[in-house]
Amino acid sequence: ISEPFIKARPVIENIEKHDHQAYYVGGCVRDFLLKRPIGDVDITTSATPTTIQQIFPKVIPVGIEHGTVIVVYDDVPYEVTTFRVEGRYSDQRHPDSVTFINQLDKDLERRDFTINALAMDIKGNIIDLFGGKEDIQKKVIRTVGNGYERFKEDSLRIIRALRFASQLGFKIDPQTLKEMKEVSEDISNLAIERITKEFGKLFAGYYLKNGIHYMKESESYKYLPIFADIPDLIYKVPDSIQPLHSFGEIIAFFHLLDTRVSVIEWVKKWKCSNQVKQEAVAIVQAYSLFEKYGIDKWLVYTLDRRYYKGFTNIMNIFHPALLDENDLDKVYNSLPIQSRQELCVNGNDLISWYPNIKKGPWIQKLLTMVEKEIVFGNLKNRKNDIKDWIKWNPLEIN
Ligand code: ATP
Ligand code: MG
Repeated sequence: ISEPFIKARPVIENIEKHDHQAYYVGGCVRDFLLKRPIGDVDITTSATPTTIQQIFPKVIPVGIEHGTVIVVYDDVPYEVTTFRVEGRYSDQRHPDSVTFINQLDKDLERRDFTINALAMDIKGNIIDLFGGKEDIQKKVIRTVGNGYERFKEDSLRIIRALRFASQLGFKIDPQTLKEMKEVSEDISNLAIERITKEFGKLFAGYYLKNGIHYMKESESYKYLPIFADIPDLIYKVPDSIQPLHSFGEIIAFFHLLDTRVSVIEWVKKWKCSNQVKQEAVAIVQAYSLFEKYGIDKWLVYTLDRRYYKGFTNIMNIFHPALLDENDLDKVYNSLPIQSRQELCVNGNDLISWYPNIKKGPWIQKLLTMVEKEIVFGNLKNRKNDIKDWIKWNPLEIN
């Protein structure tokens, strides 16, 4: 048993000491059997949230109505969820009702896929009621129970199947795939935020091509914002596609693939944050500089360092082998100045040198010109040199 489980063991032991059952459950058990790095260790228990709050000193009540609290133990947060069965998802967001129960089997039965419906006790015994272990061995994604019904209950599971296909490189069971297709139009009723979250994981998956293959096969893209309006968009994805590590990268990628849809439209329709928008805009801007001038010092200087990885990744998709991982850093480190703050002159200097010219956009324009000359190494970053340079380039002021 690996490290994260050992660290979580006292949490389970404490619950058991209070006469309740508790197990490791879901993704962590799956990833353990797959020998993949384990993300969060989730725990499922017969104890109610109230009981959990009573027996642990540090509990964050994130979703008491749904039976979920976070227990912080030894500085690690654990999602502890009470065994439950769920009602319908009529708002396509949350189940209408949640009933707490005290048998593990019903709790495992409500889970989406056999590979996610595994529990493990502290001794390492696996509870596998739906053939999850065998499906892990065979690398198959299959619903727990009748797929048509399970997808009807919550059509986000269709997107989740694609997400796991992309993360794990598994096949989707043919029956499950058929049922995904049958229910896929229900996706249009989902709250977009739920889709966006899964979609981000889908596009970051190591086996992204597998995920995209099933996106086409299941025809689920027909019910996703933007993909619904441009049915061939997903078919334009080049073979050189690589995992996209953030939503900003995803949007930049698809915008560059089909510029008819603006970054802003992507951000709106997929309800993304301002941060995501900024990243997408920065990558797209750098890309258009690249198309005009190639990778030059000005591109590297103007692109925020936070986005170097994302831009390099997008470059590698559209222009394989042109840009190495550290190339931008190398150029950055060789720049005469690395930000406008380092410039020896500012707007006020320019104004004082030209007291007779009315203030206006020329100030920023001239400053940028000076900045560019310095970045390219054509001009020294010294006040007198800059003043001279401006004198010899008088036409540019107007
Ligand atoms: P990750 O490693 O990305 O966290 P995960 O399998 O833990 O993967 P989560 O989204 O964290 O995925 O969900 C935790 C568990 O809850 C899943 O393994 C699954 O058992 C169950 N689950 C989550 N979402 C659903 C859903 N929409 N329908 C049914 N079961 C779900
Ligand atoms: Mg998880």
